[in-house]
Amino acid sequence: MTDRYAVIGNPISHSKSPLIHTQFAYQTGQDLSYEAILAPLNGFRNTVLTLLDEGCRGVNVTVPFKFEAFQLATQLTVRAQAAQAVNTLKFDGTEIIGDNTDGAGLVVDIERNLEFTLQGKRVLLMGAGGAAYGVALPLLNAGATIMVANRTEDKAHKLAAVFAAHGSIQGSSYIALAGSQFDCVINATSSSLADSLPPLPRGESASLTSSPNPPFSIGENMKHRGIFAPNALAYDMMYGKETPFLLFAKEQGAAQFADGLGMLVEQAAESFFLWRNIRPDTAPIIAKLRLI
Ligand code: NDP
Repeated sequence: MTDRYAVIGNPISHSKSPLIHTQFAYQTGQDLSYEAILAPLNGFRNTVLTLLDEGCRGVNVTVPFKFEAFQLATQLTVRAQAAQAVNTLKFDGTEIIGDNTDGAGLVVDIERNLEFTLQGKRVLLMGAGGAAYGVALPLLNAGATIMVANRTEDKAHKLAAVFAAHGSIQGSSYIALAGSQFDCVINATSSSLADSLPPLPRGESASLTSSPNPPFSIGENMKHRGIFAPNALAYDMMYGKETPFLLFAKEQGAAQFADGLGMLVEQAAESFFLWRNIRPDTAPIIAKLRLI
């Protein structure tokens, strides 16, 4: 019998998860169906329990239900416990196993797909919402040191305190970042959804400082490269368009740029592995999605 899976969210029509999981199933020869389900904002629990009753094998969970999914799970993986949010549920009899694959997806995308090693690197993590909680532990486990900055500063300090036992992590306001540089800057805020940019301190633009005949001269010791260290990676979890953050990173001299499409496919692959115990080949799916 065909095994049934789904992604639940509100809104959900934009989700690429059905396409991704259908491709994974085709590639690995797994007999499964995968659909997108719109749950009412007050109806997540009922939607999940109905699917469980109907014999569904598991679901992905997206905005705004990741915290409710965390509450609903009867068992949690270590990374879901740390993230305090769940994006994958696996139904096993009456047990609802909650996992969070976002962080693993991000780290695989950065390290394997973008060939950027995180060990020993200074990471600026912008945002202190569900996505930032999901990626903090995997980033620390990969050997990065983290500065978390958030518009509401308190939340950055709270996030840092939650993960402090696992590695080097501190909270900050955006304004206090002036003068610091990072090897990797990750936008885990939802600012790109609103076409806006977190209030990052600006350095002199790369085009100005590298021009042989600048329109006006700045003493070398007055130049400030901004937050991007040499060879820095700028990563926006948003995908599908050039975001204000990625444009800012180009202007400010970052060396490498990535949107969140690779993370999306890699976190899906991690969910697929949890459900089916088989790892799909993600590279052709990422390439295919880039063309859509
Ligand atoms: P949340 O709503 O939980 O958190 C939003 C965060 O963004 C908060 O920290 C908020 O700050 C901050 N924020 C919102 N607007 C601005 C702004 N204009 N300037 C600065 N900060 C801002 O969202 P999530 O954490 O769940 O998701 C964040 C983003 O990550 C979304 O765009 C989502 O699509 C993306 N994502 C991508 C994934 C992928 O696979 N590629 C996976 C998961 C998420 P404050 O606390 O001050 O309100």
